[in-house]
Amino acid sequence: MLNSVFPDDCRLCEKPLTTFSRVPVCHSCLQSPQPLQLEYFCRICRTPFVDSYPLDEHDLCTVCRKSQANFDCAYSYGSYDGPLQQLIQLFKYSKVESLAGPLSRLLLQSLPFGENFDVIMPLPMHWRKRWERGFNQAELLAEPVARRYGLKLSHHLRRTRYTQAQAGLNEKQRQENLKGSFVVKRPAELSGKRVLLIDDVFTTGATLRAAAGALKASGAARVTALTLARVDNRAFAPGRRRQGADMSFASTSAGAK
Ligand SMILES: [Zn+2]
Ligand SMILES: [Zn+2]
Repeated sequence: MLNSVFPDDCRLCEKPLTTFSRVPVCHSCLQSPQPLQLEYFCRICRTPFVDSYPLDEHDLCTVCRKSQANFDCAYSYGSYDGPLQQLIQLFKYSKVESLAGPLSRLLLQSLPFGENFDVIMPLPMHWRKRWERGFNQAELLAEPVARRYGLKLSHHLRRTRYTQAQAGLNEKQRQENLKGSFVVKRPAELSGKRVLLIDDVFTTGATLRAAAGALKASGAARVTALTLARVDNRAFAPGRRRQGADMSFASTSAGAK
């Protein structure tokens, strides 16, 4: 009982929390994720590169050039490393659901001013995976975004197949693995609509591309993907030190109650 009332230690920096809050992370750790710095990037998926070499004359990366991107643009707040990665892992795997509010504020900050949407949609999880995890992190993140736009969260997109883990697969295998894994319920309601599709992490974008493909096939006019973080391979480029690479995620048991 006392544990749930008195401030705990910050789950990131482990300093004692000085204020009462449902969020077990201190103010300075919540403020620490830095927005992506983009210099060279793909016009569609916004994957950042260290130089312009991977981009063609239309500023497209190899993936967007060769395959259908399906989404029209993909925004992310920051790189998937350091404190942002720690916050996402705390939210997703340690199930600190109270982080949905602060994290969704980062999502809203990543959208360009003035861009409008008719439908706000979380990337769906297969029901079995959702049941295993207990919640869909994308849904918790998307709810405050939908509220900001005065819209109800849309659940028109469904995941029909329990796809095998994407890790270790190349882009072609990922696309193959995802084929037909999304269906749209009541497609007429998406016809001509501008859809904002929300997830936590942009890894290669294959899942978001597959989901956006199903939305476009149902008549969506525009699909914008929005994620908190993206895997930023610039950190692995020669001569660049990977920021936050050795910041291993503090054990989830440390603050678990
Ligand atoms: Zn802290
Ligand atoms: Zn691209």
